[in-house]
Amino acid sequence: MNLGIYIQVPFCQTKCTYCNFHTGVVSTEKYAPYAQAVQQEIANHRDFYRAAGVGSNAIETAVVDTVYFGGGTPSLLDPAHLQNVLNEIRTSFSCEWKEVTLEADPETVTAEKAAAWAAAGINRVSFGVQSFSDLELKSSGRMHHRDDVYRAAPILRAAGINNLSFDLIIGLPHQTAQSWRNSLDELIALSPEHVSIYMLEVDEGSRLGRELISLGTRYNAPAVPSDEQIADSYDFARELLGSEGYEHYEISNWAKPHFASQHNLKYWRREPYLGFGAGAHSFSGAMRWANVHDSMQYAASIQAGTLPAGQIEEVSLQQAHEEVIFLGLRQLAGINLSQMDSSYARTLTDKLASLETAGLIERQGEIVRLAPKKLSISNEVFVELLS
Ligand code: SF4
Repeated sequence: MNLGIYIQVPFCQTKCTYCNFHTGVVSTEKYAPYAQAVQQEIANHRDFYRAAGVGSNAIETAVVDTVYFGGGTPSLLDPAHLQNVLNEIRTSFSCEWKEVTLEADPETVTAEKAAAWAAAGINRVSFGVQSFSDLELKSSGRMHHRDDVYRAAPILRAAGINNLSFDLIIGLPHQTAQSWRNSLDELIALSPEHVSIYMLEVDEGSRLGRELISLGTRYNAPAVPSDEQIADSYDFARELLGSEGYEHYEISNWAKPHFASQHNLKYWRREPYLGFGAGAHSFSGAMRWANVHDSMQYAASIQAGTLPAGQIEEVSLQQAHEEVIFLGLRQLAGINLSQMDSSYARTLTDKLASLETAGLIERQGEIVRLAPKKLSISNEVFVELLS
């Protein structure tokens, strides 16, 4: 069995207005003790899991083939800290790494760091580009400028890191149909191997989201594009990236052939992964657990010799079915009803028929997938299927 390892680094230089992640701006002096706590969690994970009743023999004998440093902004850490964490994974697990990803903000990339990342085994960098418009970046509270992306990408390639992923966001303040087209054109010109496109999330978890919900004017909320423009921009990106040879393999993700994210596919395929660090999630196949978000509380728990889990749950059969549908339909390949529990598949029959009539899903024999032109409203389908 293969296993993915996720390392959460919950620190950023500043807080973007649209961010709804549990990340914080802390003194750089906190980075080294945090990295040491993560190393300790990895080194002692067997004892922690045994005491908490999670984990399994299958997990312990699995081969780690993907590692993902996410955040937050893990590229802020000293490369030596990242290297130490990777060394601890090598010591604690059986490893045959295919893909080792580091999320990075473009302005944090230097030639020295890139060389150290490559030497540590990092072979993929995922950039939070978000936009090629300086106006959109500034009005969202981002630290970098368009030029930083042009500076950073060649540095990484010169260091031998030739699997680059760029993130873009649809719906940033001041985004227009034309500026969105420009961002896509510039992205295509830089030819990353992988592209992730997210639509702005409007919820209570971010300052901009709260402002939009309360119809306020702070954080450039009045300059956020309409839902219609956001949906049109998504469809435009889908068609343009497809015509440029990018395969659309998940609602928010495109890749050149053979460059789909091996780590992230594990989430959508319900394959096991272990998360280390504050707020990191884990899935053993039978259990899901998540560490506490607060990095101080996390480190204190590690010091005290206990798993810093804030939440542990056994996955029920019903939950497993729902996950198969929700995560499976996120993939453009869709779900295969013949591989699902037959009685559960039967309970879906009526709902699937009405969604097909409404043009929201497509069905070919036992394969069900979201209709390509309705991907921007996928949540409606999920709500209907899981209700
Ligand atoms: S860089 Fe990413 S994680 Fe950090 S504040 Fe901005 S959106 Fe949030």
